[in-house]
Amino acid sequence: MKTIYFDHAATTAVAREVKEAMDPYFCENYGNASSLYDLGYKSKEAINEVRIKVAKVLNAKPNEIYFTSCGSESDNLALKGVARANRQKGNHIITSKIEHPAVLNTCKQLEKEGFKVTYLNVNKNGFVDLEELKNSINSNTILVSIMFANNEIGTIQPIKQIANIVHKYNAIFHTDAVQAFGNVKIDVQEMGIDLLSMSAHKFYGPKGVGALYVRKNVNFVQLQNGGHQENDKRAGTENVAGIVGLGKAIELADKNMEENNKKLLELRQYFLEQIKNKMPYIRINGDLNNRLPGNINISFLYVNGKDIVKMLANYGICTSSGSACSSGLPQPSHVLLAMGLNEGIAKSSLRITLGKENTKEDIDYLVKVLEESIKKLMLQM
Ligand SMILES: *Cc1c(COP(=O)(O)O)cnc(C)c1O
Repeated sequence: MKTIYFDHAATTAVAREVKEAMDPYFCENYGNASSLYDLGYKSKEAINEVRIKVAKVLNAKPNEIYFTSCGSESDNLALKGVARANRQKGNHIITSKIEHPAVLNTCKQLEKEGFKVTYLNVNKNGFVDLEELKNSINSNTILVSIMFANNEIGTIQPIKQIANIVHKYNAIFHTDAVQAFGNVKIDVQEMGIDLLSMSAHKFYGPKGVGALYVRKNVNFVQLQNGGHQENDKRAGTENVAGIVGLGKAIELADKNMEENNKKLLELRQYFLEQIKNKMPYIRINGDLNNRLPGNINISFLYVNGKDIVKMLANYGICTSSGSACSSGLPQPSHVLLAMGLNEGIAKSSLRITLGKENTKEDIDYLVKVLEESIKKLMLQM
């Protein structure tokens, strides 16, 4: 059976060019980047080239980029690193109710360490309430962490406006841009971002490598102690091949961004038109304008999202209900609940995330199988 992949928010296939770029760094250029001979210098140079490339895409400086093992680590380093380093200034942190668990559970940990955390609500379209942010922030607030684009509903937050409010109070602004980086143009200067998390496997790079941008002069402490790698902020021998892969992946993503996004938007539009005509009992979740072009999140009223996912899987179609990280758990999506959906509708949601290899034919097949599956599931009730 052919696999048709519609779960690009969970992870993506490594692009061929990315794999090729990484290949020499396994068996030939395997030197430790800290070593003082050619093999070592080659690794060091390769890492620095990627540092320059990532910085350029973000409009940052190379020494503001720190490589990590994944998006979750970048979020942990950002939140714990900033909170612990700025404790003398205050103990209040603000985030939102729709963050990824990498941020939410890190905040829970910081609460155990004595920090106070405010979890902002979102409106029915999936955007944080700027008035609530203004009312929550105070002179005791050291850090605000709001995600750039949501992993379940794809909504893109008003990042620049948020940063402006945060900086009025001299607090530090972090954004989890794991879904956005590679899909959306990001300029950290123009947008006022102080820290930004990214992860290569979400934009056709390899798993196990991410990065954190930290604006110069933002105080943060390392979580992992050891050698002097990453300017003493992240000990451990660098994942050279992974970093090279991240570099190639962002180069490709940046170069093809407009073209890719145009294609994804067209496919999404095509899907939505078909589904609206063929299936009456649906609800599209989240704003459709300020949203990642490849994200579709719909509730099929009266049926369970996880049952739809499993039924589609029988036909080789990969989708998800809620986020991948929580799909083993029986709870409805915390994101959809935060938007005010009732439990039943939240549990009936399906996430379809399109990617660059998807075609119109894939969508036709999806619509056909989806229609049949929903009919079957409704009969089973
Ligand atoms: C995937 C994801 C993460 C976690 O990244 P990993 O590299 O899988 O650890 C964090 N935040 C968001 C928004 C994500 O989509």
